[in-house]
Amino acid sequence: MILFHPHKPDRAYPDERSRLVMLDLIEFFESKGKASLKEDDHGAVWYSEFLEFVGEKGIFATMCTPSGYGADDARWDTWRICEFAEILGFYGLPYWYAWQVSVLGLGPIWMSGNEAVKERTARLLEDGAIFAFGLSEKEHGADLYSSEMALTPQADGTYLANGRKYYIGNGNEAALVSVFGKIEGSDEYVFFAADTSRAEYACLQNVVHSQNYVSEFELTDFPVTDDDILERGDEAWNAALNTVNIGKFNLGWASIGICTHAFYEAIHHAAHRTLYGMQVTDFPHAKALFTDAYARLVAMKLVALRAADYMRSASLEDRRYLLFNPVVKMKVTTQGEEVINHMWDVIAAKGFEKDMYFEMAARDIRALPKLEGTVHVNIALIVKFMANYFFNPADMPTVPRRDDATNDDFLFDQGPTRGLSKIRFHDYAEVFARFDQANVAVFRNQTEAFKTMLFQARPDEAQTADIDFLLALGEIFTLVVYAQLFLENAEIYGIEPDLVDQVFDVFVRDFSRFAVQLHGKPGTTDEQMGFCLQMIRKPGVDTTRAARVWNEHVFALRDTYEMSP
Ligand SMILES: Cc1cc2nc3c(=O)[nH]c(=O)nc-3n(C[C@H](O)[C@H](O)[C@H](O)COP(=O)(O)OP(=O)(O)OC[C@H]3O[C@@H](n4cnc5c(N)ncnc54)[C@H](O)[C@@H]3O)c2cc1C
Repeated sequence: MILFHPHKPDRAYPDERSRLVMLDLIEFFESKGKASLKEDDHGAVWYSEFLEFVGEKGIFATMCTPSGYGADDARWDTWRICEFAEILGFYGLPYWYAWQVSVLGLGPIWMSGNEAVKERTARLLEDGAIFAFGLSEKEHGADLYSSEMALTPQADGTYLANGRKYYIGNGNEAALVSVFGKIEGSDEYVFFAADTSRAEYACLQNVVHSQNYVSEFELTDFPVTDDDILERGDEAWNAALNTVNIGKFNLGWASIGICTHAFYEAIHHAAHRTLYGMQVTDFPHAKALFTDAYARLVAMKLVALRAADYMRSASLEDRRYLLFNPVVKMKVTTQGEEVINHMWDVIAAKGFEKDMYFEMAARDIRALPKLEGTVHVNIALIVKFMANYFFNPADMPTVPRRDDATNDDFLFDQGPTRGLSKIRFHDYAEVFARFDQANVAVFRNQTEAFKTMLFQARPDEAQTADIDFLLALGEIFTLVVYAQLFLENAEIYGIEPDLVDQVFDVFVRDFSRFAVQLHGKPGTTDEQMGFCLQMIRKPGVDTTRAARVWNEHVFALRDTYEMSP
């Protein structure tokens, strides 16, 4: 079973506690039931019931305390975090968000050398506390250089913090907020832990209408001492980016969870709806849309799992995760939108109904590409790796499936964030050469045409300064990396050849679509346009393979899961 199924929680864990956390989570939501889940969503009810449950069970303490600071079975373990985030997304993005912004708030704390705050944080987690990440400001969006939160030095060596933060999840109840700012009168960055119980902390408003509390808060002469400071200078800057590196990976898993639940609902509805004397799932276009949705979803999951292996194996010498991680962030989340779009086109009006999970999914799936760095920001990052990826492969260690019970130490010690264009990768072409499916071969040819274009009709200085052009280029590059990660995991998980070919049927069409987009950009030269035309290919037609995938993988899921009422 590739997709998560609440009644078949059969994922391998090396320890009992990890398995129990997942089972407890499933049990909580299934006994809550869909009606109550939807009622809370419509009422924008703050999820205190959920937070009490995870607090009592010590779940965030287990999942979010690195080894050495909490109980013996507490560790930061990306293998189990994947399914944890997937389950939360499966039942509702708000639950995932409460945990996710805690993860972000914890990042600068666990990365710091401030042992006292770390010990305190571990105790707070055991008491069921949640956390917040105070990075964004109303006027500055992605532009962190312009942060206005200021720490003014006082004569006694302490500071007073003044300023507002905006879009800060959990700002109403977080025990500690990791706040990013600058030391007044200098350009020195700083991260400090703000205790929200102080009178100088004011939670001003929830800027959204949802179960989430996405706060605007203000610090007014908020006293800060060296004991509260987590990082200063470059280290504070690095902590901001390195925390987002950890956090943004989880967005892919929220998308996977959302799409999986929506898939069960949608195929069930369509398979039981009779129009003109036939089932909706008998329409060729409905079959095609569901098959594409399924293929995309399987790819999302395998790619994200593979990226996790690289995150867990990362070191200062092996920073391949810095490419694979934004690929998960940008590509898995936008693929999630495609999956929902495909299914919504089939189930149409049903997707609006108030008692459907799908109604939430259709809204929430759109958030994930936009948070923690937009699609543009992530593609702009991804293209920095393109030259080394294609033209300068290195002998790098083969990374196995990482399902071991290890604490992911390196994630909290990632070091400087610069030097991205120097990062080397193993040769992507090797895994492609090990697959002989027709559509993998077509994709290989498309990739070859793209690579040749980069070499023979290399983007000039004006084109590389044009973000619009770069984004079109970056879409194609991202797809190649995505396909590589998919194949690496298809090997590890022994995915059936039919399904691999079906996934590449989608990839080949996507490649063609992106080639058309690049072809149409104002700055694309005639020579580059010629290469774009070479990249437009039709997938290999194999109706018997498509029928097998439909029957054995897609349609087979029609009656397998319905959330308890
Ligand atoms: C529901 C919700 C919850 C959130 N929770 C938190 C939280 O808990 N803590 C927190 O700190 N923040 C949080 N945020 C803020 C979130 O991370 C920002 O929305 C995000 O960083 C993007 O900023 P922006 O939306 O203001 O877009 P802007 O930064 O204003 O971007 C505007 C446009 O410029 C483009 N752009 C910007 N920079 C670049 C670049 N370098 N290259 C290419 N294009 C670029 C963008 O893609 C976008 O199209 C939350 C936001 C929301 C909506």
